[in-house]
Amino acid sequence: MCSACGAVNSTLTLADRHWTCPSCGAMHDRDVNAATNIKREGLRILSEKGIKVIKPTTNSTAGTAGINASGNPARPVPSMARVDERRIHVL
Ligand SMILES: [Zn+2]
Repeated sequence: MCSACGAVNSTLTLADRHWTCPSCGAMHDRDVNAATNIKREGLRILSEKGIKVIKPTTNSTAGTAGINASGNPARPVPSMARVDERRIHVL
């Protein structure tokens, strides 16, 4: 599906890595176009469920932006392993 106009191009094969939308003329990288469509659908579903998505304030990629949809850190805060987790068990 063209991420620019929504037209479905059913003639594409897996070998087509780049394509031009026959409806609107937008040129796409297959993976980037798919990622755009997946992101849009994910945001639509979250919005439908009333979940507010906070956009990252930097240009970093998802996962490194720091905040997830719940407003919590996207990555777990690093911490020292407990003493009993640091033991090496030999069988
Ligand atoms: Zn299009």
